[in-house]
Amino acid sequence: MRIGFHVSISGGFSLAVQRAYESGCTTMQIFSRNPRGWTVKPMDQADVAEFKRLREQWDIGPVFVHTNYLINLASKKPDLYAKSIEQFVIDLERTEKLGAEYLVTHLGSASGQEEEWMIEQVAAALNMAMKLHPLKATILLENTAGEKGDMGYRLEQVRQVMDRLKDPSKVGLCYDTCHGFAAGYDIRTKQGVDALAGVIEGTVGLDRLRGVHLNDCLRDFDSRVDRHWHIGEGKIGEEGFRLFLNHPAFRDVPKIMETPKETEEDDPKNLRVVKKLMKM
Ligand code: MN
Ligand code: MN
Ligand code: ZN
Repeated sequence: MRIGFHVSISGGFSLAVQRAYESGCTTMQIFSRNPRGWTVKPMDQADVAEFKRLREQWDIGPVFVHTNYLINLASKKPDLYAKSIEQFVIDLERTEKLGAEYLVTHLGSASGQEEEWMIEQVAAALNMAMKLHPLKATILLENTAGEKGDMGYRLEQVRQVMDRLKDPSKVGLCYDTCHGFAAGYDIRTKQGVDALAGVIEGTVGLDRLRGVHLNDCLRDFDSRVDRHWHIGEGKIGEEGFRLFLNHPAFRDVPKIMETPKETEEDDPKNLRVVKKLMKM
């Protein structure tokens, strides 16, 4: 089973893979650039080459890239919508230059819009991006907590977006356990984990589940509030994660923790808890 963290790219991509290795990752996630700005620095060829060499040497993979946070593929503002598609393509190009396998994206948000309108809007954006940039990497759509206007908090919505894609073969699912719990998918019991596996199988299909964001949730079940927390210390709790991690539908799916990093001890602690729950 592959497990890792979202790691910082501060100082370069080769430093990011070094951070991943030092914290015991066998898979990793990064941003391809500053996630909260539109400006993009060109990629340093030597740094990219070193990134590829090190991840090969240490057998770290798959590599997930997460899109910029300003991107909104469901925006109702025409200028932001166009900019989002353009910026999504930039993330896609950078993902492929890095040789990363996956680009994870949220579906976007549009407060006050009809759900059907949002599904069409996101699918059109993804179709446009894929037309502008034929894919090598796979795009993963991430389920959300369903905060104000957010799309993709029901797996049926993710499926409806996929159904509207010209080439759905290059698009999969990244399931975030915190977002899912906040949106009403309860994994605290065996029945709950079975039910979630059933919903994934019945919507996008388990074969399309390529990654998991493994996060506990600070806020209540079905609260629609996205606050990541340390594994086993949030409202999902250790038993929920033990059931989820050892379930045949989820056991072998690569997992990335996007847990808080308040002290240097946080990542090693979260990794220890996961390994303990999986008896690794
Ligand atoms: Mn995300
Ligand atoms: Mn996530
Ligand atoms: Zn989140």
